[in-house]
Amino acid sequence: MHVIGKDCDKCGFCILECPVEAIVDAGPVNRVVPGKCVECGACVPVCPLQVIVEEHGAAGEAAAPAAPSR
Ligand code: SF4
Ligand code: SF4
Repeated sequence: MHVIGKDCDKCGFCILECPVEAIVDAGPVNRVVPGKCVECGACVPVCPLQVIVEEHGAAGEAAAPAAPSR
């Protein structure tokens, strides 16, 4: 799924872009709701800070910067 990193400044672009409203205001940063995201990837290029990354494996708290995939 896609995750939003801690450097999000809540510009809101990703919320406007997400077709399934999977991105919500979660306090200090916006957040992708697990299970709602359909992995369309539309939010990734619109983020001016590039803090949205696709995370492989378990959905967790670690919004790691784009790690090299195997
Ligand atoms: S587009 Fe990026 S910086 Fe803007 S609210 Fe979304 S994740 Fe945060
Ligand atoms: S990948 Fe698509 S469905 Fe998932 S949060 Fe981003 S815009 Fe929404």
